[in-house]
Amino acid sequence: MFGGIVRPEGVRAHVGIIGGSGLYDPGIVEEPVEVRVSTPYGNPSDFIIVGRVGDVSVAFLPRHGRGHRYPPHAINYRANIWALKALGVKWVISVSAVGSLREDYRPGDFVVPDQFIDMTKNRGSYTFFDGPITVHVSMADPFCEDLRRRLIEAARGLGYTVHSSGTYICIEGPRFSTRAESRVWREVFKADIIGMTLVPEVNLACEAQMCYATLAMVTDYDVWAERPVTAAEVEKVMKQNVERAREILYRVIPQLKGDPDPGMCSCCRALEHAVV
Ligand SMILES: [Zn+2]
Repeated sequence: MFGGIVRPEGVRAHVGIIGGSGLYDPGIVEEPVEVRVSTPYGNPSDFIIVGRVGDVSVAFLPRHGRGHRYPPHAINYRANIWALKALGVKWVISVSAVGSLREDYRPGDFVVPDQFIDMTKNRGSYTFFDGPITVHVSMADPFCEDLRRRLIEAARGLGYTVHSSGTYICIEGPRFSTRAESRVWREVFKADIIGMTLVPEVNLACEAQMCYATLAMVTDYDVWAERPVTAAEVEKVMKQNVERAREILYRVIPQLKGDPDPGMCSCCRALEHAVV
């Protein structure tokens, strides 16, 4: 399927897709080549597939590696974001499977979160700036508003149920929450969806001054619902959602042909007032 592995010299991409559980192959990229990128932080999760959707160049990286080799706490998030940045990526769409903490965010629905809560504990470094340069980026609005809007509109245009806001709570994993924890996330923290991979990917994309938004696919209700689901049910929802996510990406990517508009979002200026 691929035209061999190439070294990244001269290979550029404008849009980056980070695929989550179930999405290991973009499926929509034309003329794909596999690119091996090494970074000062080590290797990204896998080779990066670089190709085109229409006339927009796209880089696709499976977050867990093909075959799901890296669990959430073992992903080299810095290498992944660095590699996309090194290829010239300006826009990053992160796709991830999540659990729902609300009755009305149903399995099969999409959520484009606008906030997150970080409950991870041990992800190595959460920053590209370990000193001597110190940087405190603003995370008040952690996702690109422009990209969020495009994802929401595309999903709606295709007739899919999409929630235009939501707080994603990122837990350490790889274990799931206890019932007591799940109640806290829901009732005390008022989080809407739960996953294990958003942090520190989102912080790093911000430090790299790239537009970043997440297309979250609800696969099941978290344990609070006391509604046990089978792996087969989750698998079925995930398969359907992955197909739908591809359709949404196929609609949004051609819109991202230009550079981010500084009038629409401030992602590309994230470091302006952040360097100490
Ligand atoms: Zn932006």
